Order: sequence, then structure tokens, then C-alpha cells
Amino acid sequence: VLPDDAARRDDLEATARRILGAAGYRRIETPIFEATELFARGVGEATDIVQKEMYSFDDGGGRSLTLRPEGTAPVCRAYVEHGMHKLPQPVRLWYLGSFFRRERAQAGRYRQFWQVGAEAIGSDDPALDAETIVVLVELLEAVGVRSARLRLGSLGSPETRAAYRERLAAHLRSREDELSDEVRRRIELNPLRAFDADHPGTQRVMETAPRLIDFLTADDAEHFAQVRALLDDVGVAYEIDTSLVRGLDYYTRTLFELTSEELGAQSGVGGGGRYDGLIEQLGGSPTPGVGWAAGIERMLLAAGSVDEESTDGGVDLLVARVPDSPATTAFRLAADARRAGLRAELETGGRSLKGQLKHADRIGARRVAIVGPDGVALKDMASGEQREIPAADVVAAVSGG
Ligand code: ATP
Ligand code: MG
Repeated sequence: VLPDDAARRDDLEATARRILGAAGYRRIETPIFEATELFARGVGEATDIVQKEMYSFDDGGGRSLTLRPEGTAPVCRAYVEHGMHKLPQPVRLWYLGSFFRRERAQAGRYRQFWQVGAEAIGSDDPALDAETIVVLVELLEAVGVRSARLRLGSLGSPETRAAYRERLAAHLRSREDELSDEVRRRIELNPLRAFDADHPGTQRVMETAPRLIDFLTADDAEHFAQVRALLDDVGVAYEIDTSLVRGLDYYTRTLFELTSEELGAQSGVGGGGRYDGLIEQLGGSPTPGVGWAAGIERMLLAAGSVDEESTDGGVDLLVARVPDSPATTAFRLAADARRAGLRAELETGGRSLKGQLKHADRIGARRVAIVGPDGVALKDMASGEQREIPAADVVAAVSGG
């Protein structure tokens, strides 16, 4: 992340802090690496999808550690470990930091990337599902993400899903010879992934595949209906996607994803869902939760470039020096100006006075203090006016406007 990108990222962080803070989310930071078991839980879909992208390593002490590939499991681990179930529920948390996945790097897909995320733990109220979605939509709007599309689905309970998985696997097995090798190999492990396949034969088979949404229990269907009603009520547009699958295995009930056409192949800007079984899997008591994560780089890509050149706010004072001027005067002047809250830069490039004034222009300095052997002159860059001034009065003169 180079300095030219920093201003937009700072703005995004400030926007996230404002929007999430206003909704009652409090910031949490989890470690960059954790015990591998936190991310690779048992066998099945989790191992199928997350583990293959993880950077795991032996720490030399016989422990397997993993660079965090995602934020939800660490936040839930912290919830359990720090007894957050004793706080008023739900506990609303947000985070912003870097995550790591073994990916083939390309535009919008990196091996180290940043995510902002939100988690609301301790309630299964559909209002919380809707709230997290609304907050994410609001963030994307504030950041200026263009052509965002919200897809919404529901996975039901683990039991519903298990029964459905059997039904889907049976469907796949019945037309096994039409499937891609990869999908065929994973019929038992994770038949849901077949919905994601690019393979034309597989896609044909999936057209007539049973849809999970048709097998939801009455409770789950009612929960989903309430989430949709709340979104309708606040005018958040969405499409129901009956084949939505996401890379992380722990989702239950609500599932959502935001994509932007601006992004081409790496179209996902953010996504999330409900994970009512995760905390229990991590050793806590059964606790519902819902949340999302959005990629910082993807959001900025989807927001497009901003026209105005980023000047990082501009410089109040450049302290320029002519040859043979006392080094201490210039140094002290810059230090005093900064202490008074001004943004002040000291010339150290060894440039001629002409070069220094050109530099002042380039960095957008409002004033230049020219320190000479016999005194100081203060130049106003906008008007070009220049006057002699006692060194001790420079800071007050610049602060005064
Ligand atoms: P994709 O389908 O693009 O691989 P994902 O389903 O793996 O995304 P999530 O695990 O849901 O993504 O992560 C949430 C968000 O984090 C994504 O929507 C995306 O904006 C961002 N993201 C995920 N992986 C990367 C990556 N390798 N580089 C940059 N951003 C990423
Ligand atoms: Mg991915």
C-alpha cells in the first residue's frame, strides 16, 4: 500500500468507523495468526474450502499456526474466551485488518488483503440479519461503490442442509457422467459447490437440481421471510438467489453477497450470513450470530478513481533555506510550527531557492518561510507577496490564516 493509496484507505476506515459506530458496533482486533484448528475444524466443507487457501506453518515449537484467512472465527473465539456472553446481548463488534489466503494474485485478488467486517453475536432476531445487511449497504454507498447488487439466500439449519445435501448428492449421482471431474470427485464431500461450476455439463445438471430453499423448515422459512420484509421496508433492493453458496462452511439461515459489475471476474465486494452453530463448534454454549466482511481493495476498485488529486490535506508551511543560513533557525522554526499544530516541512533536499519554491508549489504549501543568513522572509504562495519577519513571529503569522 503506497502513500498515494493511503488517503482513500484512511477515508474508508473513517467512514466504516462512523457508520458502524453509529449502529452500536465496537471495534475489536484479533491476532494476525491463530492456532490452525480455529480455521480448520474437522472434515467436510470447511476443510474443503478454507484449508486449501490457508497459510499454515509450524512455529518451531510443534504448534501449527495459520495466518488468519477470515475474521469471523477469530472474533467468535474471542467472544468465547473473554466471556462476552455475560455482556448484554447481542454483542456488536467490527474489525478492520489484513487477511491472508493462498491465491493466484491478480487485480482485486491478493494473498494479503484487507477486510472490514461486522459481527452481531448473541441473538437470532431476523432484525439483526437485516441490520447487518443495511449497515453494509450503507457503507458501500458511502464509499461510492458503483453498480452493487445484493443477492440473498437462506441455508436453513444444519439438519435441513444435511438432508438436502443427500438429496442433491443423489441428483448428482444420477447424472454422474455429465459432471466435471472435480464436481464428481466431491459429490460426497461438498455437492453444494456444484452450483458454482463453470463446466457446461455440470451447469446443465444443476438446472434441474433440487433447491435448498424449497426444503426449509417452517421456522427457517419464517425467519427468512422476516429478514426480507425488513429489507423491503427500508427499501434495500435484493435478489433471491437459491443457489448462493459461500466459501465458508459455518453459515446457517441467512446468506448474502454483494457484487459489483465494476469488478469483472473478482466481482465479490462483500458478503456474510448467519452462523448459529459456530460458537458452539468453538467450545462455547450454543449462541447465534450474524455478520459480514467486505474487501477494502475491492471496495476501492469498485468505487473507481477519485478525480481530485490527493494532496493529503496540503502543507501549511515549507521552511526553505538559502545557502549559509543557520541550520538551527530553520530546524527550530519547523519544529515550533508543528508543535503549534501546523503541518510544516523542512527543506532538506539541497535544492536551490528557485527549486525550493517550485517544490513548495508542487506540495501545495500555503506559505514558505525563507531562512537566510540575516533573517527570515515569509512568502504567501497564493498572492506571491513576500515580507521580512522576525523568526519568532512566523508561527503566529501562519496560524493566523
Ligand atoms: P471470492 O469469491 O472473490 O474469492 P470469497 O467468497 O472468497 O470471495 P469472502 O471470504 O466472503 O470472499 O471474503 C469477503 C470479501 O473479502 C470478498 O467479498 C472480497 O471483497 C474480499 N476478498 C476475499 N478474498 C480476497 C483476496 N484474495 N484479495 C482481495 N480481496 C479479497
Ligand atoms: Mg475466495
